[in-house]
Amino acid sequence: MRTVKLSSGHEMPVLGLGTWELTGDPCRKAVADALGMGYTHIDTAILYGNHTEVGQGVKDSGVDRKSFFLTTKIPLSKQSRAQILQQGGQLLSDLQTDYVDLLLLHWPTKKTPFEESLGALKELVDKKRVRSIGISNFNKDLVRKVAKIFEIPVVTNQVEFHPYLYQKELKEVCEEGGMVITAYSPLARGDVLRDDRLSKIAEKHGASIPQVVIQWLLEKGIVVIPKASSKRHLQDNLGALDVSLDAEDIEAIDSFPEEKRKVDGTWKHYPF
Ligand code: NAP
Repeated sequence: MRTVKLSSGHEMPVLGLGTWELTGDPCRKAVADALGMGYTHIDTAILYGNHTEVGQGVKDSGVDRKSFFLTTKIPLSKQSRAQILQQGGQLLSDLQTDYVDLLLLHWPTKKTPFEESLGALKELVDKKRVRSIGISNFNKDLVRKVAKIFEIPVVTNQVEFHPYLYQKELKEVCEEGGMVITAYSPLARGDVLRDDRLSKIAEKHGASIPQVVIQWLLEKGIVVIPKASSKRHLQDNLGALDVSLDAEDIEAIDSFPEEKRKVDGTWKHYPF
């Protein structure tokens, strides 16, 4: 699997499996199937309530811990130093692992200063429980702030990013701050499947719509984490790595006029 070099020096596979809303047996199975067919990157979060199943799926796959990248996230409401250190221990035991590759602040909070939360994440890095740290759902101003205040690299901002939400400016600000974008809800939670414009491009390349959308993101140096529960979808998404798009396809998708969010963050502490 192709990787991107993070500002922490670690490598992150460019395509991963998202696990939001995957719990129980379907989650265990999807994780095992994904690792079995060549995925090397799994994305979860404490809030998804599936750490145990993710850990079981890894075990079922028989894949060695060193050969895949594991990301999880600290929830919005629990970002004080004490809370992060407590969760840092619990999540490793739930996931049945000695370390996670990447630990993110799931949403920016106003309750705890970023210096404190990021400082606690750094303590987990120092204790070798976490390899790299990052943020999620941070807007441009917050990205600039975090990039300035912090002494260890914040390697990624995981945000909603798909053909109906091309966040070009945010991407540039993240890159200036040494962060890669990780695209969540890359398939717009399934909406892309019904798009005639994408279907024409897919037909031209003998590809599926998800493959076209994933490749559109990969071309931009973005890490992509589609969620899929069936072997068929997992395999289809993996096939995106072999699809190549023409400049005109990329430009066409870049100019989609929609500004559509699928994940509602309006009740959260900071506006996008
Ligand atoms: P998504 O990946 O955009 O879309 C998932 C949907 O697409 C599912 O219904 C899935 O169906 C379907 N699908 C996947 N591959 C397909 C294929 N090849 N053909 C047809 N349908 C396909 O949505 P998402 O789950 O919102 O986003 C992905 C991941 O990003 C999440 O799982 C999570 O890990 C992360 N995320 C993070 C945040 C954050 O705040 N940081 C927020 C949202 C999401 P099946 O399940 O039936 O396969």
